[in-house]
Amino acid sequence: MTSQAKNNWSINDSIDLYGIKKWGQGNFSVSDTGDATITIPFPEGNVSVPLIDIVNGARGRDYALPLLLRVENFLDAQITLINETFRQAIKTADYHGSYTGVFPVKVNQQCAVIEEISRFGVKYGHGLEAGSKAELLLCLANLHTNGLLICNGYKDQDYIDLGLWATKLGYRCFFVIESPSELPLIIERSRLLKIKPLIGLRIKISAQVSGLWTETSGDRSSFGLSTAQLIAIIDQLRDQKMIDSLQLLHCHLGSQIPDINEIKVGVREASRFYADLADEGIPLKYLDLGGGLAVDYIGNQSDHSQSCNYNLSDYCEALVTTIKETLAPQGIEHPTIMTESGRFTVAHTSILLFDVLDVMRYEPISIPETLPQNLHPLVEKQYQLFRQIKETEFTNVYPLAIDTRDQIRELFRLGTISTRERALAENLFLGIAKKLISILDGQKDVPLSVLKLKQNFADIYYGNFSVFQSLPDTWAIGQVFPVMPIHRLDEYPERNASISDLTCDCDGKLDHFILSGGESSTLPLHPFKEQENYILGVFLMGAYQETLGDLHNLFGDTNVISVRINSDASFDVIKEQSGDTISEVLQMLEYNPSSFFNDFRDKIEGAVKNQKITINDRQKILNLFSERLNDQTYFNKAQEI
Ligand SMILES: *Cc1c(COP(=O)(O)O)cnc(C)c1O
Repeated sequence: MTSQAKNNWSINDSIDLYGIKKWGQGNFSVSDTGDATITIPFPEGNVSVPLIDIVNGARGRDYALPLLLRVENFLDAQITLINETFRQAIKTADYHGSYTGVFPVKVNQQCAVIEEISRFGVKYGHGLEAGSKAELLLCLANLHTNGLLICNGYKDQDYIDLGLWATKLGYRCFFVIESPSELPLIIERSRLLKIKPLIGLRIKISAQVSGLWTETSGDRSSFGLSTAQLIAIIDQLRDQKMIDSLQLLHCHLGSQIPDINEIKVGVREASRFYADLADEGIPLKYLDLGGGLAVDYIGNQSDHSQSCNYNLSDYCEALVTTIKETLAPQGIEHPTIMTESGRFTVAHTSILLFDVLDVMRYEPISIPETLPQNLHPLVEKQYQLFRQIKETEFTNVYPLAIDTRDQIRELFRLGTISTRERALAENLFLGIAKKLISILDGQKDVPLSVLKLKQNFADIYYGNFSVFQSLPDTWAIGQVFPVMPIHRLDEYPERNASISDLTCDCDGKLDHFILSGGESSTLPLHPFKEQENYILGVFLMGAYQETLGDLHNLFGDTNVISVRINSDASFDVIKEQSGDTISEVLQMLEYNPSSFFNDFRDKIEGAVKNQKITINDRQKILNLFSERLNDQTYFNKAQEI
């Protein structure tokens, strides 16, 4: 970056740099004062609220960072978007059926999310999808009694009975059969309870998709019925005079499918099954195409595994026209199209906000103007290199400096070079690297090998959060989420950094970022100032992260608030939830914190008896111990003195 760009840095440069327009879908922007904002459309116009205002509002209510923020408006907006876009595609294609969406609960089971989807979804008849008994129970509690419910997953007798009673109550509750063994129990229970079930069949699609979840489809997928099994089940239903229960055909190709052509191939296959079965006289009405609708995390509209080469309109159009075309030769009536789009519905709604606690810089601490006498010649050599770096010969300098550094380390191990000499030599080495990087910063077309140099000497920013608790997919499958500061965006971000979390695990880090130009292993950030908060946001992380997280190093749930933005730019806190306390986390591991306290007290009493501490100290220590048990697990800045 040239110094000119540095001096003229504007919020638009930040918008470009962090790629906000590309991945933000219009939901995020930057205010004139350099604060990241969320933008909500209202009939009277767009309303923008700085995230820092929400952070301050949360702090005022005693919800410190790290904080998981949910914006309810985004849930409503996504549900509206998917329903309206399908409606448009159906109209354009002159398709004779309609669209109904269901939200797959496993993507985000949190109460605030499900309550809002159930409440807002009524308008569109948007339903819920359950994949387990626990999920079914929460669906039944949240969905209104004529709501649409898709029951996937393994079903025991209790699951089936619950679903049957739900049908009797008026829910449109479909049992989607995933394996032949489920059918006899459904037949038996429905006969016994005298309730006619609604049945769907999950077919195995042989077309395989790319992306991170390729195993969901294909012959070896553990989900769904082979064609032979499908036919066997249909024959059984006919024998049992239950074929009129079979109204739905289901498939799920995988999640985050980046390539629209692969989606079309899968939909075509599913539609062929639908056409033939309908042709046989089976009263099918619904074609449920599962999930897969991708979120463009990177924002470059490509077939990269974390992007997608289509937008929502393309997706809707692809489904509608592929189904229509595939059914046409047999003159089959158009089904109601269903999708179970989870990721697309909830990704935007959640933002993880955390503060930076400290920074490690790979820079020299001090380099003396003149060198001490009688230094080892190798240290002298490094010093000369440091002094004489010239722009023209920099490609030779770096390998030479590394070589000298390594020789010095070897001689240190042999006892020839002292610790002080080594310290000086390391400062010199870092000084050389810093000079080289600043020479390069002014140059265009920086070669790849040199970019690597920048990464090797990038800062580490320590964040007050746990990757394992809050962003498990970044660790497990290399998922990338957009990360950026939520303020100071009118300032040039002159540092380059990776981010480390609070856990003592070298995997507890973020070192893969989305920048306008693509991906990067470092993130441009602003210089950290001890006395000021520096807050980063991780965006688009509303899908799959919350319940997959774990207690690594005993970092528990963060504080969570759900807000609703109003048309006058005020916001209401709809739901709030304090993060886990240390005591709660310990109880999850079957400790008993109150006996814990007693055990510790016994030790302290012993220390009083042995006159190691005074009675006064005893009280101080015990108070500290018991108060900390009720604290949250994250770094508490207020406690820092
Ligand atoms: C996980 C899952 C989904 C959700 O997929 P997304 O790609 O998140 O939309 C939908 N249906 C089934 C059966 C699933 O298992």
